[in-house]
Amino acid sequence: MDDGVLNHVRKLLRENVIPSLEGDLAENQILKEIHEDIKGIREAVLSFSAGDFSPPIRVRGIIPGCLKALQAHLRHLIWQVQLVEKGDFSQEVRFMGEFSTAFNNMTSQLNRTLSMLKKKEETLTALTENLRSEVDRRETVVEALQESEARFKYLASHDVLTGALNRVSFFERADADLKHAADRGIPCCVVMMDIDHFKVFNDTYGHGAGDETLRHVVRVIAEGLRKTDFMGRYGGEEFVLFFYNAEVTTGMMIAERLRAALEKNQVPLENGNVLVTGSFGVVQTKEDDDPDTENYMQSLVNKADSAMYAAKRAGRNRVLLYGEQYDGCTKPSTADS
Ligand code: GH3
Ligand code: MG
Ligand code: MG
Repeated sequence: MDDGVLNHVRKLLRENVIPSLEGDLAENQILKEIHEDIKGIREAVLSFSAGDFSPPIRVRGIIPGCLKALQAHLRHLIWQVQLVEKGDFSQEVRFMGEFSTAFNNMTSQLNRTLSMLKKKEETLTALTENLRSEVDRRETVVEALQESEARFKYLASHDVLTGALNRVSFFERADADLKHAADRGIPCCVVMMDIDHFKVFNDTYGHGAGDETLRHVVRVIAEGLRKTDFMGRYGGEEFVLFFYNAEVTTGMMIAERLRAALEKNQVPLENGNVLVTGSFGVVQTKEDDDPDTENYMQSLVNKADSAMYAAKRAGRNRVLLYGEQYDGCTKPSTADS
């Protein structure tokens, strides 16, 4: 065997740079073919070792054939891994021995994890749904409670029939306003109002119409009050009013305005409008009054009541101011007098 040929083949197999075929060697046809085969195999192996499986292998023979098969397997594997990357865990590898087993175990583990996660997600979704409806239910309960609390507060402080303040809450507010006003030297008026001949009214038109009339009276009076003033149902067809920051003249003027409003706004009943009037008694606080005196507000109410009864005796449908002339002619005020 020619040493030059063997030396060239050895270089082809061992050296980094492919030796050139020159001189006599270039004439050797068999060596030329071996040179091209080894060159092709070298190129393929080099690009494989660099991780590039794309260059085509053009040489023929058993070794290039095997390299081509390996190249096809690896390219197929890359494609399968890309599918797994996109979430397709059904991929199986059948052609790579131990690697196939590990790959297939990995995808089936991923499949199991995925279905476990799906189940957990379903459970969590159901739990969230339950929680949401529980929150909704509780919100509804809280709203209902708030509504009933507001309703309870309203009922506790208002007269159910007319919507006016009830006697207790009227007195509470009046006591507070009296103290507030007394601290600042502000005069106030307390007014009693009693519907005239209401018994006859009830007897004539019935109790239903009587109730409607009470509501009507409260509406008319409430519309005529200033923002600072308020009214309460004292009992039956008697109402008590509080005018904040009102001297006698102002108090009398407001009461007269309310009396006239009642007279003007007749009660609209089924068979036509009916006149309803009221008698008013007014009293003004005095500068030297002590709001901390026991039953101070009640004493003002009693005075206004006596003036109101004087108005009744004087012919009804009028406003009278409390004064000495009415002392001794008062009729005790009761809830349904
Ligand atoms: P006066 O002008 O002297 O006040 O006469 P009056 O008839 O209004 O007075 P009296 O005290 O004799 O009668 C009051 C009437 O008010 C009797 C009662 O049936 C009626 N009354 C009290 N509360 C209500 C109520 O809530 N609804 C109805 N419909 N009537 C009531
Ligand atoms: Mg009356
Ligand atoms: Mg009465």
